[in-house]
Amino acid sequence: MTTADSVLIHTTLKKYFGYDSFRNQQEEIINSLLQKNDCIVIMPTGGGKSICFQLPAIIFKGVTLVISPLIALMKDQVDGLKANGIKAAYFNSSQAAEEQQAIIEQVVSSELKLLYVAPESLSGLENVLKEDYISCIAIDEAHCISSWGHDFRPSYQQLSFLKKSLPNVPFIALTATADKATRQDIAEQLTITDAKQFITSFDRKNIELEVRPANDRISQIIDFINKRPNEAGIIYCLSRKSTEQLKERLQSKGLKASAYHAGLNFEERSRVQEDFIFDKTTIVCATVAFGMGIDKSNVRWIIHYNMPKNLEGYYQEIGRSGRDGTKAKALLFHSYADVIQLRKFAEGASNEEFQIAKLDRMKQFAEATSCRRKILLSYFGELLNNNCGNCDVCKNPPEFFNGTIIAQKALSVITRLKESEAMGTVIDVLRGAKNANVLDKRYDSLKSYGIGNDIAWKDWQHYIIQLLDQGYCEIAFHKNNALQLTNFSRDVLFNNKEVNLTKPNIAKEIIASPKKEKKTKTKKNNSLFERLRLLRLKISLEENIPAYLIFNDATLKEIEIERPLSDAEFMEINGVGERKMEVYGAEFIAEIKAFMEEKKKTPKKSETLNVTYELYKEGLSIDEIATKRDLKAPTIFSHLAKLYSTGKDINIYNFVSKEEVAAVQKAKITLDSPDGLKPYFEHFNEQIDYSKIRLALTVIEKENNK
Ligand code: ADP
Ligand code: ZN
Repeated sequence: MTTADSVLIHTTLKKYFGYDSFRNQQEEIINSLLQKNDCIVIMPTGGGKSICFQLPAIIFKGVTLVISPLIALMKDQVDGLKANGIKAAYFNSSQAAEEQQAIIEQVVSSELKLLYVAPESLSGLENVLKEDYISCIAIDEAHCISSWGHDFRPSYQQLSFLKKSLPNVPFIALTATADKATRQDIAEQLTITDAKQFITSFDRKNIELEVRPANDRISQIIDFINKRPNEAGIIYCLSRKSTEQLKERLQSKGLKASAYHAGLNFEERSRVQEDFIFDKTTIVCATVAFGMGIDKSNVRWIIHYNMPKNLEGYYQEIGRSGRDGTKAKALLFHSYADVIQLRKFAEGASNEEFQIAKLDRMKQFAEATSCRRKILLSYFGELLNNNCGNCDVCKNPPEFFNGTIIAQKALSVITRLKESEAMGTVIDVLRGAKNANVLDKRYDSLKSYGIGNDIAWKDWQHYIIQLLDQGYCEIAFHKNNALQLTNFSRDVLFNNKEVNLTKPNIAKEIIASPKKEKKTKTKKNNSLFERLRLLRLKISLEENIPAYLIFNDATLKEIEIERPLSDAEFMEINGVGERKMEVYGAEFIAEIKAFMEEKKKTPKKSETLNVTYELYKEGLSIDEIATKRDLKAPTIFSHLAKLYSTGKDINIYNFVSKEEVAAVQKAKITLDSPDGLKPYFEHFNEQIDYSKIRLALTVIEKENNK
C-alpha cells in the first residue's frame, strides 16, 4: 500500500464517519478489499464490521451491493449512511414496483454508493448485476449461508451463483460466528475459497461482566435500572410469559419497559423495536428473538434474567451493548432452576449430547471463581494472558475457606435422604424446616435433620452449587433432579478430605448507599451531557431518525468533555464527519455556549433569544446576526420562530413567503405523519429548507391558536 492510499482511506474515514483511527483489523481488511481481494471477516458483534465495506464502497466506482437478511433493519442502516452524507438505498419486497425501478435507474447512473438487498430480492436486480455497475459484494451475517451455522437461511443459498456472474468483483463475507466449519462452508458456498480470512479478537473490553445468584431477581433488576436512569438496556428471558410479567413489574415501578417475543404480531414487534431504536422506551424484556441486526450503539446494559443455552448465545447477546466502545455492563442471573429447565429442553433433541455439553460450559462460566473473560475467550479459542480486571471475579475475588464440615453436613443429609431428593428439600432438611413436604415424609426424624440451621438458605444453595461443580455430588436429571453422591463423596465423608469453598458474595452494588446515588442522579440531570442528550433526542424526533445515528454516546461524551466552540474544534471530535458538522454543528455548539453562559451567571433561559431579538430590532440580517453571535443561520431562524410564537414583533413573512406557508399547510393535511420536519422536507423534494418549514409551521400554529 502506498502512502497516498493510506492518506485516502484515513481522510475518507474522518470525512464520512468522523473517526480518527481504525479499530482492530479494519484497515487491513479495507486495503485488501480495495486491491480487489475476496475477504472473509470474523469479528464479534459490535466490533465494527460495517465500515470494512462501507468505506471502500465510497472509494470504488460503482455500487456496493450489501446482502442482508433483515428487511426490517435495512432502513436504519441506510438512514445511518445518509446521515453521514453517503448515497445509499435499499431494495426489497416491501417496495412498490416504481420505487424499485427508480433504484435500478440510480444503479445504472452510478448515483448510489451502497445498495442493501435481501437475498430473495436479488432476482429483481438481474439486469444490473453486471461488472459495469457493481463494484463490490458484501455479504452480512454470512453464516446464514451455512447449515453449520446457528442461523441457516435457505434464501442465502442463492448467493452461490453470484461469483459466476461477477468473477472480477471482490466479495466480502462478514459474520460474528467464529467456528471453523462455518467459515469453511462460507468460503465454499460462495466459491471464494481463496479469500483472505481476517479473524479479529473477540475481546470486548468495555463490557463489564457480572454473574449474580438469582435470588429476588426482580428487586435486583429494579435496583440496577434505577441506578442507570435514561440508559437503554435489554433483559433477556427464557419464556414469552416471563417477558410479559417482568415488563408489568417494571412498569408498575414507573419504568418505561416493553416486552418483545415471537408471540406478538408483526406490527407490535416492529413498534417495540422502533420505540427502542428511537429511545422512546429504554428497556425491552425480550426472548432471544430480539436484537439480531439492531445496530443501536447506545445500548448500555444487558441483563440475562435466565441463563442462556450456550456461550455463543450469551456472547452474541451481551455484544449488543456498548457498540460505541464506551462502558457497558452485562449482568447474568444464575439459577439452579434454569439449568434444570435448559437441560429439559435439550433432552430428546437430535443433538442432545452436543447441547448438553454446551450448557455445561455455560454453567462453568456462571460458576467460575477465576476471571470470567478468560474463560469466555478461551471458549472462542483465544488466550488472555492477564486477568481482565473488568469482571466481578477480578473486581471482587472470591475468598476461599476450609468448608470440609459444611460439605460433610450436606453430603450426610444427601445420604440420609437416600439420594432421592432435589436441592430444595436437601436444604430444608439441613436447616430443619417444618414445611408440609418435610413433615409428611417424616424427614424431621432423620439423624441429620437441622444440622445446618446456622447457615442461611441462600448460602446453602451457594455451597451446594460449589460441591456440584467440584464433583462431590451430582444431579440425577432423570430422577427428578435428585442430588446424589459421587465417587469423591466418600473421601469427604469418611477420610476427611479437605474441601475449599468460597464465601457467598453479596452483590456490592445493592448495598451501595442509596443517598449517595440520589445526589449523583440529580447532578446528572443538569450536566452538559444530559443537555446534549436532550438536544439529540429533539433532533431525532424532528428528523425522524434514531438518536444514536445523529451522534453515538461516545461522541456525545467527547463533546461534553472537549466543549468545542467553533466549527474547527467541533470537527476534531471523534465521530463528527463533514456532513454531521454541517447539519448539526451549529445547534450543538449553541447548546454548549448556552450551558457555559448559564454556568457563569445563571441567566434566564430566554437570554439567548433576547440577544437575537435585540439584534433583529437593530435591523441586522439573519446572516449578520449569525456572524455577530457566532451561531449558524438555522439557529437564528429557530430563535425567530420562538420569538414570533411568543408574540414578539417579528415580520415573519420576510423570511418565509405566504405561498410557502400555504404549501406547508396543505402538506400538513396530506402527509401521513407530519411529526417533525423531515417528512415535509422530503415531501417538497428538498426544495424548501428546514428553517423555512419550521417558520411556516410556527405561523400555522399561531394562526390556529388565535
Ligand atoms: P458490527 O456490525 O461488527 O456489529 P458495527 O459495524 O455496527 O459493528 O460497529 C459498531 C459501532 O462501532 C458503530 O457504532 C460504529 O460506528 C462504531 N465504529 C466502527 N468503527 C469504528 C472506529 N474505527 N472508531 C470508532 N468507532 C467505530
Ligand atoms: Zn476478569
